[in-house]
Amino acid sequence: MSASAEGLCLFNTLTRRKEKFTPLEEGKVGMYTCGPTVYDFAHIGNFRAFLFEDLLKRWLEYRGYKVTHVMNLTDVDDKTIRGSQKQGVPLGEFTKLYAEAFFEDIKALNVKPATVYPRATEHIPEMVNLVKTLMAKGYAYTAQDGSIYFAISKFPAYGQLSHINVQELKAGARVKTDEYAKEEAQDFALWKAWTPEDGDVYWKTDLGKGRPGWHIECSAMSMRYLGETFDIHCGGIDNMFPHHENEIAQSEAATGKKFVRYWLHNEHLQVEGKKMAKKLGNYYTLRDLLQKGYDPIAIRYLLLSTHYRQQFNFTFEGLEAAKGAVERLRNCVRRLQDADGEGGGQVAELLRGVQTGFGGAMDDDLNISVALGALFDFVREVNNLLDSGEVSRSEAEATGRFMADLDQVLGVIGKVEAEALPEGAEKLIAEREEARKAKDWATADALRIKLKEMGVVVEDTAHGVRWRLEQK
Ligand SMILES: [Zn+2]
Repeated sequence: MSASAEGLCLFNTLTRRKEKFTPLEEGKVGMYTCGPTVYDFAHIGNFRAFLFEDLLKRWLEYRGYKVTHVMNLTDVDDKTIRGSQKQGVPLGEFTKLYAEAFFEDIKALNVKPATVYPRATEHIPEMVNLVKTLMAKGYAYTAQDGSIYFAISKFPAYGQLSHINVQELKAGARVKTDEYAKEEAQDFALWKAWTPEDGDVYWKTDLGKGRPGWHIECSAMSMRYLGETFDIHCGGIDNMFPHHENEIAQSEAATGKKFVRYWLHNEHLQVEGKKMAKKLGNYYTLRDLLQKGYDPIAIRYLLLSTHYRQQFNFTFEGLEAAKGAVERLRNCVRRLQDADGEGGGQVAELLRGVQTGFGGAMDDDLNISVALGALFDFVREVNNLLDSGEVSRSEAEATGRFMADLDQVLGVIGKVEAEALPEGAEKLIAEREEARKAKDWATADALRIKLKEMGVVVEDTAHGVRWRLEQK
């Protein structure tokens, strides 16, 4: 697909501007995306983030970059420990169940696997080393209970991502929980000394008996696989503060280098116009939707189809429409498979148009709504040409190749099987032909109605009889 003149531009949260994307190393991209905390089944808000990241990765690959994608699994933090204790099972057993469920879910949604999925519990030494470096450089200190904190007053750039006002922070005040609000911005825990509430979850290390804080996990694992400076870090907007702000502080204080070059954040998801919450009864995991009989690919399409920096309103009406949209794409591909018209030379021009339209919109900070608009205009035009028998075999093949190419990015069309006629329909079509030849219009008409009842629509065109299955 032809690139726009500027090439790929991405909105960088760090600068609050759209910037031309240039990777550190030509042709390669290092990308880190905060993965699931495996304490529950992931919900559709989580999947909006994972699908935006999947689209970004697929588009980078489409543009020829070799992407190293790292997605961590948080398998030790406040939430996982609480969850395992509540169920009375060991932490490892508890998180394994949800990690497996997560992998099943992303497979159903046709998310391309990451290059590596590091687990926090398997990278404790890297985290300990990072904390030791921060101690040695004077950015971290041990509190009375033995926990180690990051001193944000020692890092003047604190707040660069979230634009938080550091002046208002209380010097020396500390927060130990993994998640907290902006108003609570204060020194945060890098290493949490063991307390009885942690039960049997602890590591005995040079830092004492305890466990890592959530934020240090992502700093340690991203730098372990992508180096001290890498290209892209993604996540949901709710992780911008404190999680990503703290990642920057820890990493840049330790290395003295820029941590991430492009930060990309996706906006929130609402359900039927409201914030999704269990107590409102509008909280859905992927499993909930599959149980209701929805197609995961329609869910994929729906969650992808709004620009990632726009708030997304999930509705069941939207999900029905998404199903229809996917079906329209598949139908067009199906019709192309047996198109054998005369060809009027219009297809080449349409292909050029959609390639520029789709490619240019995607290069513009993944403007998927505009890209899909260009695609559906194209599909409509192609369908019109198919109706009038103006698509030749070779034009149909070129269009089919384009659609397959495009599906490397969208991941919704998949393998489209040719339509099969219901049993007995072929015989009725032949009988109708005979009747028409004999100018027995009454019989021909009766057979047409009979076929329609079977869901088969027959059309008499200038190129002979055609049939298609009625859309359900
Ligand atoms: Zn993270």
